[in-house]
Amino acid sequence: MSELPTNFYDLTRPELFELAASWGFPTVHAAKLWAYVYLSGVENWSAMPELPARYRTKAECELVFGRHETAAETHSSDGFTRKYLLALADGRKIETVLMRFTGRVTACISSQAGCAMGCVFCATGQMGYIRHLTAGEIVAQAMHVDAALRETTNRVGQVGSDVAAGGPACRVSNTGVAAHIDPQARRPVATPALADATSSSPHDRHERLRNIVLMGMGEPLHNYDAVMKAVDILRDNNGLALGAKKITLSTVGVIPGIIRLADESRPINLAVSLHGATQEERAALVPVAKKWPLDELMDACRYYIEKLDRRIFYEWTLIEGKNDTAENAHAVGRLLKGQQAQVNLIPLNPTNGYDGEPTGREAAKNFQQILAGYGLPCTVRQRRGIDIGAGCGQLAVAKR
Ligand code: SAH
Ligand code: SF4
Repeated sequence: MSELPTNFYDLTRPELFELAASWGFPTVHAAKLWAYVYLSGVENWSAMPELPARYRTKAECELVFGRHETAAETHSSDGFTRKYLLALADGRKIETVLMRFTGRVTACISSQAGCAMGCVFCATGQMGYIRHLTAGEIVAQAMHVDAALRETTNRVGQVGSDVAAGGPACRVSNTGVAAHIDPQARRPVATPALADATSSSPHDRHERLRNIVLMGMGEPLHNYDAVMKAVDILRDNNGLALGAKKITLSTVGVIPGIIRLADESRPINLAVSLHGATQEERAALVPVAKKWPLDELMDACRYYIEKLDRRIFYEWTLIEGKNDTAENAHAVGRLLKGQQAQVNLIPLNPTNGYDGEPTGREAAKNFQQILAGYGLPCTVRQRRGIDIGAGCGQLAVAKR
């Protein structure tokens, strides 16, 4: 039986070089291939003239570009958020979100199809677990967003002239599937700035993906090896070159994974989902707290902070009447006091399987102020993309 071709996006650069060497080719060809894909966004073998024909023919037989098909693409009325429903090779689906606010371009990426952790207020938890994603399937989400940014940037001049001429708003899907009209494309505020066309770096010619949050579907530390390999590929200096500080991994509190991140000195940001400041309150929202109890989680977090001399971002979904009182805020303050920590408050986003309401603005502000009194910096996350189900905890797909 012949082996299946390797997904190019599963390979680190050194692995691609090793592969070239094992085929009897110098690594310089592999370096060129890597640059074509990650710097120029080219996946078409015939559009890689600098590759010698023999290497190209071999690579074409052995490698496949495992990019995801767009099954649907939706744009939020906020003008800053796009959600992609992506089909994996086996027909399973995942969601990826592109956010473009506060001057930053961020991709919210999934690490699993579904999730096994069962947090009660989370749509991904409500749908259950399907499978881990491979490193290549994680990287391909970033490439999908990168391609969308390239297309949008290339399209800017066209959009401008369309609008000036009173012509139609443009199509937005990069595959033509489920393309729709984006009324926001007419708004200057949501239109990406034209990049410097005279720059010598291919990256600089389009709006770059600079931030990644592993906060999409799934629990990244449940899929540790694939996620870390993907992070290595995304960080590669000759590729997408994302800064470690621009990548944030959010975990429900998988203790062995947090310890491993510390022991391996992984330089990315870590966010830990807290939601309850006592074991009982937390376990009611986050069932896996029974397996990884709060006191042990705090020990692991302190270990991480001390070992790496780095802060942790704690996430707290604010649910009206459930975990948003002044008393709750003081409990969080006491729990985290003295830690290098920042708290991110996320007003609950609606999901079909949970009945709660988000905390209002005033109560959220109050919560924030109480935490400030404990020396804990704290932000309230802006609600974006809620109308298209692209907010925190809203990503979910049909299981089949
Ligand atoms: N599995 C990881 C990352 C994905 S969820 C984790 O749980 O941390 C990203 C963040 O959204 C987490 O803090 C999660 O608790 C939060 N979240 C889940 N459902 C939510 C909802 N309905 N409203 C607001 N935040 C939610
Ligand atoms: Fe999974 Fe995170 Fe959702 Fe919990 S909040 S079910 S860990 S994706």
